[in-house]
Formats: sequence, C-alpha cells, structure tokens
Amino acid sequence: MLTLALSKGRIFDDTLPLLQRAGIAVTEDPEASRKLILPTHRPDLRVVLVRASDVPTYVQHGGADFGVVGLDVLLEHSAAWGGGGLYRPLDLGIARCRMSVAARTDFDYPAAVRQGSRIRVATKYVQLARQHFADKGVHVDLIKLYGSMELAPLTGLADAIVDLVSTGSTLKANDLVEVEQIMPISARLIVNPAALKLKRDALRPLIDALAAACAEAAR
Ligand code: ATP
Ligand code: MG
Repeated sequence: MLTLALSKGRIFDDTLPLLQRAGIAVTEDPEASRKLILPTHRPDLRVVLVRASDVPTYVQHGGADFGVVGLDVLLEHSAAWGGGGLYRPLDLGIARCRMSVAARTDFDYPAAVRQGSRIRVATKYVQLARQHFADKGVHVDLIKLYGSMELAPLTGLADAIVDLVSTGSTLKANDLVEVEQIMPISARLIVNPAALKLKRDALRPLIDALAAACAEAAR
C-alpha cells in the first residue's frame, strides 16, 4: 500500500488534476466527507489528509510514503527539523505564489533595513524570516503568528510581516504594500527515502508519472 499525504484546499485542488493526468482518480470528495483517509481507483494507493504544515512530518517519519507541500512549509520545516529524511523534492509547479515582506504604506522600509538597524516582523515563517533579515545584516525581532498576519502592522504589533502573496488583493484591502519579494513559491512532491527503497517498484513509476503530468501541464 502506498500513502500520499495532501492538505485540504489549494494543495488538494491543484494536485487532483496532476493525479488525474497520471491516471489516478481520488474516489471521494474531502469537502463532502469527514474521512481523513481517501481511497483512489488504485487499490494500492490511498490519500491521507493532514494539515499543510504536517505534511513534511508525515513523510519524514513514514506516516506517508510521499506528499505534496508548499516550498514555504517545506523550507520552514527543514530549517527547524533538518532537511534529512526527505528525498529530492520535485517542483510540481502548482499552488504558485511568492514569499514577501509587506508593511504599512506609511512605513519607511528602506530606512528600517539599512545595515545595523532594527525591525519588528510578525510571521508564521520565523525561520525563513530570520534567515532573510540575517542575510541583509538587519537585526530583527520576530513575532510568531499562526494566522491573519496582515493585522500585525495595523495594530502596532509589528513594523512588517513576512507572508505569502499571490494577487496582492488581501494586502491592498488592508492598506499594506509589498515592500520586498523574498522568493517564488510552488508546491513540491516530497518522498520518504526508505519508502523509495522498499517500495521502489510501485513508487518510482508513480513519481515519474507525476513528473510527466506537471511537465505536460507546464507546456
Ligand atoms: P492552514 O490553513 O491549515 O493553517 P495553510 O494556510 O498552510 O494551513 P493553505 O492556505 O491551504 O494552508 O496553503 C497551503 C499552501 O498553499 C501553502 O503552504 C502555500 O504553499 C500555498 N499557498 C498559500 N497561500 C497561497 C496563495 N495566496 N496563492 C497560492 N498559493 C498559496
Ligand atoms: Mg491558510
């Protein structure tokens, strides 16, 4: 049995067409059922639904053989827990957005990130944010949040946020501006290395089919 870890929402919705192109249909709708384990047309493949930030943990520790996870979550996980235990991530080109710094329109970001200055940043991505500002030689006070980061600069909790941006409409609706782009983000296929050895005959063709499916989608 092969187990694929997905998170509900964007990752699930964008992975489904890739699976379909690889000849795999998930036979139950996660929004309609409360099940956490979904069958597929293939008797030897099932999908487990986990929180987006739990996907690397499931795959690293063998709770799932492979999984789909945003680069944001993957990098944050690897910085905190080490990159070991996950095999060569494949860029699936789905769930695209970017990691950016945003601040209030009246905040002087260039002055705040001059070498040797200090900035208060609220984010869910503390490891990535710490690395980003360290690379710039800026002292950063990090405030860990779990959601609605846009609120932090508006309430005086922080000067800026590090968050994902796709259209920018959420920032705009809250009078924030993107002041710096950190990196492009898309979803990755991650694989448990032990599973790749022990279940290679079943897993390898599936990974290859998914790689082909996203190459086709990119054309
Ligand atoms: P939870 O909602 O359970 O706290 P989450 O916010 O990480 O977890 P999603 O909002 O479904 O879960 O995001 C999952 C992944 O989709 C993210 O890790 C990221 O890679 C990608 N993503 C998030 N926001 C966007 C966006 N605005 N545009 C495109 N992709 C995004
Ligand atoms: Mg979310």
